[in-house]
Amino acid sequence: MNEFELIQHFFTRSACAQGGENILLGIGDDCALLQIPAGQSCAVSTDTLVSGIHFPEQAPAFLLGQRALAVAVSDLAAMGATPVGFTLAITLPQIDTPWLQAFSEGLSAMALQCGIALIGGDTTRGPLAITVTVMGAVPQSRALLRSGARVGDVLCVSGALGAAGAAVPYVVGERDVHSLPERVQQQLLAAYWTPQPQLELGRYLLGKAHAALDISDGLLADCGHIAKASGVSLQIQQTQVPVASAAEQVLDAHAALQSALSGGDDYQLAFTLPASAVAQVQHDFPAVRVIGQVCSGSGVHLVNAAGQSVAALRRGYQHFE
Ligand code: ADP
Ligand code: MG
Repeated sequence: MNEFELIQHFFTRSACAQGGENILLGIGDDCALLQIPAGQSCAVSTDTLVSGIHFPEQAPAFLLGQRALAVAVSDLAAMGATPVGFTLAITLPQIDTPWLQAFSEGLSAMALQCGIALIGGDTTRGPLAITVTVMGAVPQSRALLRSGARVGDVLCVSGALGAAGAAVPYVVGERDVHSLPERVQQQLLAAYWTPQPQLELGRYLLGKAHAALDISDGLLADCGHIAKASGVSLQIQQTQVPVASAAEQVLDAHAALQSALSGGDDYQLAFTLPASAVAQVQHDFPAVRVIGQVCSGSGVHLVNAAGQSVAALRRGYQHFE
């Protein structure tokens, strides 16, 4: 199988490369052509996953395909964009057809779930690395930026945190996942391998949230980006941070909280909005939790129930570092 047959077989003919709204031309020419609907901007984001750095070398190909796309699409969700198309630049050490088949199926499963189509890419030989570039459409001048948080806003997260961070030792084989009850195994591995881009919530927050981002590096680190870009400080009430039950089942309470605060890889959204909007948002998205507020100043400050500052915890798991 040569490079062109490989592209045909595993990518051009894959389920994720068939059709798609706003795609005028897909795989096969020098460029793909997208139609950006009138009044919308094109949102673009790239993520690279390198074998041995961002995922273990023996990672299951199907799960890797799902995750590579999910983490990229999560950036579209964070801007309030609707997915349109993505490109895949893949570097492969050899042509391993069962691996490619599983990878392509994983990619297609996540693409169908997110409503995004594969429109092109690049295929090269070398150490395994996967680069996904996603493109989406977002109403002009309305994208959810990191820079819009206002003093007096409340800070929210879209759901429980910490499960993906807690899963890492099992994913890399430091701990034996089979030692866990079946249900916990599934929850942990799903949290890591199949993060769910918060597309519906992101779109819903257009015109409601003042600032938003997706939590990839950990709540504290990522909230630091909102604080810096917006020129404000964020006060986070430690007791209000929702900790994923899967994390609580494999870690003690302190470590589970630490994973929620700094573990990363959860791909939930953090966003700020006026307090008056919270009730409606929580009615429509019951998993949303208020975890703090936007104040003047700078940085991210963790406080206890009495409002006293809590010494910053150490950063949690440093993935594959
Ligand atoms: P060019 O030499 O013009 O850059 P290529 O020969 O690299 O084009 O690719 C031919 C077509 O196949 C292009 O449309 C390209 O986008 C697509 N393609 C190449 N690799 C991939 C891939 N891994 N996934 C999807 N499409 C791909
Ligand atoms: Mg060309």
